[in-house]
Amino acid sequence: MATDDVVVVGAGIVGLSAAYYLAKAGASVTVVDRFDVAAGTSGACDGNVMLQSKEPGPMLDIGLEASARYPGLIEELGEDVEYERHGSLILMESEDQVERMRPGIEATRAAGVEIRLLDHQAVADLQPEVAEHIVAGAYCPSDVTLNPLLMCFALARAAKRLGVKYRFGDPVREVVVTDGAAAGVRVGGDLLAAPNVVLAGGVWTPELLAPLGRTVPIKPRKGHIVVTEVCRPFVNTAMVSPSYLFDKHAHGGQRPAAGGGGVSVSFSLDQTVSGTMFIGSSREMGSDDVATASAVLRRIAVNAARIVPCLADVRVIRSFAGLRPVTPDGRPLIGAIGPRGLHIAAGHEGDGIALGPITGELVTELVLDGKASRDLTPFDPERFERAHETT
Ligand SMILES: Cc1cc2nc3c(=O)[nH]c(=O)nc-3n(C[C@H](O)[C@H](O)[C@H](O)COP(=O)(O)OP(=O)(O)OC[C@H]3O[C@@H](n4cnc5c(N)ncnc54)[C@H](O)[C@@H]3O)c2cc1C
Repeated sequence: MATDDVVVVGAGIVGLSAAYYLAKAGASVTVVDRFDVAAGTSGACDGNVMLQSKEPGPMLDIGLEASARYPGLIEELGEDVEYERHGSLILMESEDQVERMRPGIEATRAAGVEIRLLDHQAVADLQPEVAEHIVAGAYCPSDVTLNPLLMCFALARAAKRLGVKYRFGDPVREVVVTDGAAAGVRVGGDLLAAPNVVLAGGVWTPELLAPLGRTVPIKPRKGHIVVTEVCRPFVNTAMVSPSYLFDKHAHGGQRPAAGGGGVSVSFSLDQTVSGTMFIGSSREMGSDDVATASAVLRRIAVNAARIVPCLADVRVIRSFAGLRPVTPDGRPLIGAIGPRGLHIAAGHEGDGIALGPITGELVTELVLDGKASRDLTPFDPERFERAHETT
């Protein structure tokens, strides 16, 4: 029976990044996905690699490292993934919002991120077409957007060139444990043997662990995106509203949904290289399917047209929804989770495109060296179980 050094479960941005870095470090790797590359949340999302949206603390710290390493990775991959450093702008509609945002902006600046607080005129100069009532904007010039699908396929192809094998079309039915150690995974009738298994199954990761008697609190937090027809290029920077951050940072959906119905809607806008616009977005706990709801799409569109009025005249061509893997404290789970040889890399909520590559690097260090080059305590996969035991 063929034995690899590592089996990675999940061909989203996290699993593919892990496979890429593991293979680059010399490991033999098979990636298993029940569907295909980017068939989960990594193929149903925006592509912001945004520092302004990270909570100051461990998430911003790892985000800073992740953003700094992205250009080097893209150069290595050798493909155009529509990586554009055109900054990000948080558009504020009232002085109240400015005051509510101020502490976060100060804390983000203190961590080393350049953010300029712009008045209405400066916002309009940077981004014509914003509504007259916008009072201010927080502009972070170093923020980036990319095409997450192109990024995933570039990673998959680069990993393949390094020898990574793929098994698509069948789900992993079981993580096999022998004598207290991971021994591979069962897929269809086959055992894919490996002494190391990395679970990068996004929102579906808990299902992989449950048969081992392990629970991890990763839940789906659904998000809708509206996609428009091709438009003249007018979006100069990625835009979001303060509520986008407030919703994102209300982990587990505790913030009462503005507008009711259990679905909170906020504003995000970016224009792709081809000229279509991605308008978001929503956050909703308790839904684990990716069906879109016309009422939510309508709320997203109406909200966006209030902030950027010319959007009212643009035609929508499609929409989609994806499932963000959220944890109770908003931080991913990165690390070993017993039995020996089993690792988890999942739970990145709305930050998986930004943090997927660095997560892959860190998992590689953990699997091959037994320790990571940075402190992973904030991302310890067993932190919730431990907190539970001590209460
Ligand atoms: C609307 C929306 C907007 C977003 N915008 C951004 C953004 O701008 N920036 C950002 O950084 N992040 C963003 N995100 C978050 C980001 O998309 C996710 O954090 C990221 O894609 C998660 O990647 P992943 O590899 O962990 O999971 P996934 O991409 O879901 O991959 C998991 C894979 O595991 C496979 N799998 C699961 N179970 C099994 C099994 N039993 N057997 C075999 N295969 C299995 C699945 O098929 C899937 O392909 C957004 C998300 C949404 C929904």
